Amino acid sequence: MPELPEVEHVVRALSPVVVGRRIVAAELNLKRIAPGISRPAFDRQLRNSLITAVGRRGKYILFHLESGHVLATHLRMTGKFVSLTVDQSLPPYAHVVFYLDDERRLVFCDMRQFGRMRIFTKPPKELTSLAPEPLSPHFTEEYFIETLSRSRRPLKHLLLDQTRVLGLGNIYAVEALFLAGVNPMTAAQKLSKPRARRLYLCIRDVLKEAIDAGSTLRIDLADGNASYFETSERFWRVYEREGEPCVRCGTRIRRIVQSGRSTYYCPKCQKR
Ligand SMILES: [Zn+2]
Repeated sequence: MPELPEVEHVVRALSPVVVGRRIVAAELNLKRIAPGISRPAFDRQLRNSLITAVGRRGKYILFHLESGHVLATHLRMTGKFVSLTVDQSLPPYAHVVFYLDDERRLVFCDMRQFGRMRIFTKPPKELTSLAPEPLSPHFTEEYFIETLSRSRRPLKHLLLDQTRVLGLGNIYAVEALFLAGVNPMTAAQKLSKPRARRLYLCIRDVLKEAIDAGSTLRIDLADGNASYFETSERFWRVYEREGEPCVRCGTRIRRIVQSGRSTYYCPKCQKR
């Protein structure tokens, strides 16, 4: 599942392809990708719309249209965008096809079919309930410390709750906790202020680092097979390193399961 830094890279890859382009027609081939709308209405609401910007809120990719409508897409597990020239044939699992005015097609492929699209003018609750963007000035240290102080949940759970702290999936939550030297099982409100401050900085560092390291992700919209999100070249400090020596102290990395998801940590560096 792509995490926020990967989605940020998809947005950056999409931008030069679609901004300033007009959607000539929009073909919804698989109804479940856009559950709230009929196929003809999907086309009607997008047809002849100029795409003025592409952005992101959390992991929602937002296509802003001149009409005031916004097309939101969530990639979920395997959703991908591909940009095709006229002579390229459709890749497998091409569930939505946008015909653009430069004769290209922007295709949404999704093998697992969990990806979702939605058209709106007023942002729905699933967007407005999200916590502030982690790299924006709205995600302040005060906000973070206040949020921790109100929760008895283990830190790892809280960090994954997108309505409290936005942008950390399983990998980056685990990495941020390791960098900060904080135990993932500690109750959020028990964390001291200096340690909370350190965790706050590490969350931003981990996300920034992942966004800056984008060159290791292969997001190529022109690749019909859309092989992006291959993160095997990435170096995780603790993630998926059970039994290996800690990069800091050499102690063996442990794996535990919290709410059905693996947490990796160093029992020595992350005592409390
Ligand atoms: Zn260690």
